[in-house]
Amino acid sequence: PLVWGSMNSFAMLRPPWRARSSIAMSRMSRFHLSSGVRIETDTQYDIQFRAAYAGTALAFRDRLIIEWNKTQQRQTFADQKRVYYLSLEFLMGRALDNAMLNVGLKDVAQDGLSELGFRVEDVINQEHDAALGNGGLGRLAACFLDSLATLNYPAWGYGLRYRYGIFKQEIIDGYQVEIPDYWLDFNPWEFPRHDITVDIQFYGHVIRYQDEYGKTVNSWQGGETVQAVAYDVPIPGYGTKTTNNLRLWSSKATSGEFDFQKFNAGDYESAVADQQRAETISAVLYPNDNLERGKELRLKQQYFWCAASLYDIVRRFKKTRRAWREFPDQVAIQLNDTHPTLAIVELQRILVDLEGLDWDEAWHIVTHTFGYTNHTVLPEALEKWSVPLMQNLLPRHLQIIYDINLFFLQSVEKRFPEDRDMLARVSVIEESHPKMVRMAHLAIIGSHKVNGVAELHSDLIKTTIFKDFVAIYGPDKFTNVTNGITPRRWLHQANPRLSDLIASKLGGFEFLKDLTLLDQLESFVDDKAFRSEWAEIKYANKIRLAKLIKDTTGYSVNPRALFDVQVKRIHEYKRQQLNIFGVIHRYLKIKSLSPEECQKLVPRVSIFGGKAAPGYWMAKTIIHLINNVAAVINKDADVGDLLKVIFIEDYNVSKAEIICPASDISEHISTAGTEASGTSNMKFVLNGGLIIGTCDGANIEITREIGEQNIFLFGTLAEDVEEIRHRHRYDGFRLDENLARVFEEIQKGTFGDADDFSALISSITDHGDYYLVSDDFHSYLTTQELVDEAFQDQDEWIAKSITSVARMGFFSTDRVINEYADSIWNVEPLPEE
Ligand code: PLP
Repeated sequence: PLVWGSMNSFAMLRPPWRARSSIAMSRMSRFHLSSGVRIETDTQYDIQFRAAYAGTALAFRDRLIIEWNKTQQRQTFADQKRVYYLSLEFLMGRALDNAMLNVGLKDVAQDGLSELGFRVEDVINQEHDAALGNGGLGRLAACFLDSLATLNYPAWGYGLRYRYGIFKQEIIDGYQVEIPDYWLDFNPWEFPRHDITVDIQFYGHVIRYQDEYGKTVNSWQGGETVQAVAYDVPIPGYGTKTTNNLRLWSSKATSGEFDFQKFNAGDYESAVADQQRAETISAVLYPNDNLERGKELRLKQQYFWCAASLYDIVRRFKKTRRAWREFPDQVAIQLNDTHPTLAIVELQRILVDLEGLDWDEAWHIVTHTFGYTNHTVLPEALEKWSVPLMQNLLPRHLQIIYDINLFFLQSVEKRFPEDRDMLARVSVIEESHPKMVRMAHLAIIGSHKVNGVAELHSDLIKTTIFKDFVAIYGPDKFTNVTNGITPRRWLHQANPRLSDLIASKLGGFEFLKDLTLLDQLESFVDDKAFRSEWAEIKYANKIRLAKLIKDTTGYSVNPRALFDVQVKRIHEYKRQQLNIFGVIHRYLKIKSLSPEECQKLVPRVSIFGGKAAPGYWMAKTIIHLINNVAAVINKDADVGDLLKVIFIEDYNVSKAEIICPASDISEHISTAGTEASGTSNMKFVLNGGLIIGTCDGANIEITREIGEQNIFLFGTLAEDVEEIRHRHRYDGFRLDENLARVFEEIQKGTFGDADDFSALISSITDHGDYYLVSDDFHSYLTTQELVDEAFQDQDEWIAKSITSVARMGFFSTDRVINEYADSIWNVEPLPEE
């Protein structure tokens, strides 16, 4: 019944329950449609909604494409330096609402849709999230694109067009089950560019010979080729016409790859298998967050994407006919983590092998082009690739890596002749069995700047994992750029009522472009009417979340209760186990109190959400425990509304947009020194939630900005963590007594089969409690008591909430992008005339 066509228009949408409205039609026609949908009159409601979404999306897409074209022309004509942001993940979420905001015709769409019998929110909700990322790193890339366009920087994102994004999570009998996320059924936001393709080579061998002038030539021959096809996604800025490009590469067999001879000889299956093998490269996003597994297909993805992107960047540069030495004046490439580090090697290969530059001249260009952002100090997340694997897949690149390393080590040896161990420590090659290529070392050596993502993190990398490199290059190569979030999505779109209220006090929406203007809110902290409106909006957002909870879990929660939220990837270092053990402690306490004593308690809803990597067994155990605890507590009549435990399945960007505005308190409780920055902490505070957190990542700078009195900090400091771990190992380990009581209850089988959780408990009691759950348990509980106490004084609580929001101006990605532009990229904005 549903027909996609290129000549139809939104006017073909005819919901059966409404007569066609000519006003609506005329309004909708203002969208300048070039394509749309047609539905037969007897189709079902959901198809009607999907069609309404399609029609609206296509209308906005057409607007974007016009501005996209103009922007690209303007940037080409201006011929100034561009930024290329290479990220293996872009966790974009939905595009329609953002397009409406940035194009600025949401009210027109709203009216038009309403005339046709649709609510704009329902139509927006039809969109499938573009979930090409795991968590914070991918969402950061998405926020950066928004700010780059908003600030008019000539900038492109480069990524992979995965056919399957991050898996969908279902909770069945308390366990996480992963469902493939096939999201490309209908994606109006991308433009296939079959005219833009690059052949990418893998495997093969290198032939070295002298050319007629006696110059050594390295020629990479043989192997297989796979074609990269570009798909372009327009990225509109807010309050500007600048519309930048996100180019995603999809893999496809080259025409030579589909073997017609085999095909004609009747070997159809094997001909198709070759085709499929090529398409596999961009088939699926690896679902690990902060964990590297060293799989060959992942390395293939990395090279495929780096090589295609660099080919594109170099092609664009060559059109300017400039000398190669001007390359770093025209091109800044930012590496989002070490995933794109092969781009460094690939550029050196292009310049030396293909363009015939001298090694040193090429290396100068390379090292002045790249910047590297480090996202973690966790050893299990630092990328290393086995030398034999690299040798087989990318033989020429391995040679270049060895040469880069040789020249680097020679220079180190000259400067530190006494320190022989240093060479082994800083070498790109780890002398293990098998030998490994350390991608972070390569990224540092090949970049002119290395940055961490929050102050503590940037300090830590300088004093721990990259300490030797600071000695070698000096401290100036290392810098900090504290992460941020885009206020367009994370305030205005997620929390329209709060945004409107702020605008009403600040005299407009200018703060969405300059978030520091929020500081004017402080003068309204004592305004009673303002405070009550503020509180009312929070309450309405909690009702909205309560509805989501009811619809997805069946549980009813009381929106007057304190909503305590921890949503993020499930990871031992993020310590959801600390939270759920705290919940069990609270449950036991409630059970031990008399009804009169219970009256004094603050009712609480503990809300969890997040995905575990499919192979991360301990994280899955934590999810299982949370769900089992929820099943017991939520049906315990003694507890009632005093405590409810909710696990929201399939946490993603769209759900985050509902959850962040609805928290009273959110938890950011990683073991100090493990969370590089965190960005959901910023999202919650910007939406008027308070936070309970450790002195880790950006929590520290949030505290500095909003004031210690407005945040609930607890736990061990980063500087003490190592010593405590050492004590656990060598002086014995003492379990916190409240935690011991919690463990007893789990071991009694109160929350299901105790054996299911024995490894989780013994990781603490018998294996050194690496994440310091026991050490921090007491201060966590005490601080949660302070939270309860503070929540009872609602006036004071709201004052803290308003003050915190007023002081969050620093955490806009607009500030972040300007810092990158100034201190790393040296690139200027290019505003429209
Ligand atoms: N996952 C999703 C879907 C998000 O929207 C975000 C941030 O907003 C994150 C993960 C990152 O969360 P955190 O900073 O708490 O790790």
